[in-house]
Amino acid sequence: MPNYTQEDVRKMREEYEIKVMGDVPITFVQGEGMYVKDITGKEYVDAISAEWVLNLGYRNPQVIDAVKKQLDQIEYVSPVYDSVPRILLAKKLSEIAPQGLKKTLFALSGAGANEAAMHLAMRKTGGQEFIVFYSSFHGRTFGTIPLSYTEPMMLEECKTGLERYLTKQTRIPNFYCYRCHYGLEYPDCGAFCAQFIETSLRHSVDSKPAGVFFELVQANGGMIVAPEMAMKVAAKICAENHVAMIVDEVQTGFCRCGSFFASDLYDLKPDILTLGKSIGAGYPLAAAVATEEYSNVKGWEIGWTQLGHPVSCTASLAMIDVMQKEKLAENSNKMGKLLKDCLNELAKRYPVIGDIRGLGLMIGLEMVKDHESKKPANNEAHYIAKKAYEKGLMIGISGPVFGSYGNVLKMKPAVNAKKEQIEEIAERFEEVLKEAKSQGKI
Ligand code: PMP
Repeated sequence: MPNYTQEDVRKMREEYEIKVMGDVPITFVQGEGMYVKDITGKEYVDAISAEWVLNLGYRNPQVIDAVKKQLDQIEYVSPVYDSVPRILLAKKLSEIAPQGLKKTLFALSGAGANEAAMHLAMRKTGGQEFIVFYSSFHGRTFGTIPLSYTEPMMLEECKTGLERYLTKQTRIPNFYCYRCHYGLEYPDCGAFCAQFIETSLRHSVDSKPAGVFFELVQANGGMIVAPEMAMKVAAKICAENHVAMIVDEVQTGFCRCGSFFASDLYDLKPDILTLGKSIGAGYPLAAAVATEEYSNVKGWEIGWTQLGHPVSCTASLAMIDVMQKEKLAENSNKMGKLLKDCLNELAKRYPVIGDIRGLGLMIGLEMVKDHESKKPANNEAHYIAKKAYEKGLMIGISGPVFGSYGNVLKMKPAVNAKKEQIEEIAERFEEVLKEAKSQGKI
């Protein structure tokens, strides 16, 4: 490949690419483990696993080896035919997913997996509508935009002009203990937020409901962890009302949260589990894993030519193998605790950090003006995120008011991170805070 500069790449991108999803003028060219280099040679510690996709970090040797072997055999098999990697992965998912989840419908993106879940739920229940939570995010396709962008600013911007293809879904207040919508305190609240699902199934829908979509950590919405009691109540309500409990683990799966799936931490048995991002170890892959009774769709109604791609499935199998052999769910739990401890120490000195929350290595820091008012510190959060990149630390930013208004910083390093790497993230983050403070920005 010719030697391009950052400016060359930018110029070509402006001219030839229809940009979506964000626009950061950095070109990443080389990755190794938790470190990644841009085209100028600058190195970053990646505390977000390449947008929470590379849970084993960059260029995991076992994954590379498996992919190379697959490429030496066959690079593509149509979903019409049997394919060993695809079927082995479906079998593996049924073994590692929460009990009762048996069959997989593969897709190519998290949104695709969620649309697959919509089909499965609608076919089983005969229902047409879904309940979703404020600040939820489930994708950006015509089927999933109405399940996402539930904050007015974002929704307005992306739905205007597309109304013909967007069906309104029912939205209810999300679980959010730090800023409870009902002004209640956990656990005395009795998980009122979850009880409201039942009210909404009865009163808010225009036609028969088919399912309720959950994220166990609302990621784009601001790294908001679902309380345990709420999920117990929610599971009971879904079962009693014969609607699908669809748990979107596109972000929380594959050891991210200190267990193989976050559902395990809650002892949940979803009707449908949706997976994306890290499932393919960096290669395009997604899946809806369903119970036997939620496993029926009509022929031809859903599918993608490249679904269950052999290279992606092989990479996924190799990744799962590494995760199991190296006990990475435990590591994620342990390293997550360490990172949270370090961040809690920092919070004592930097009151801009209002709340530190998360499961395993899926951690959010909600930035506030002060602890009493809890007024979102959006500018401060954005300043810190930008400064972190300047200092070679990749972190993320999101909700609770998603988009450019986000005030929650995100850290989701590779789940095989070592103690020293977690400490390095905390040290670099401290440097960022120190500088922001000395510049009067926080
Ligand atoms: N569900 C969740 C929880 C997500 O975070 C995302 C992506 N941010 C999606 C679904 C959609 O995934 P994709 O972009 O692969 O369609």
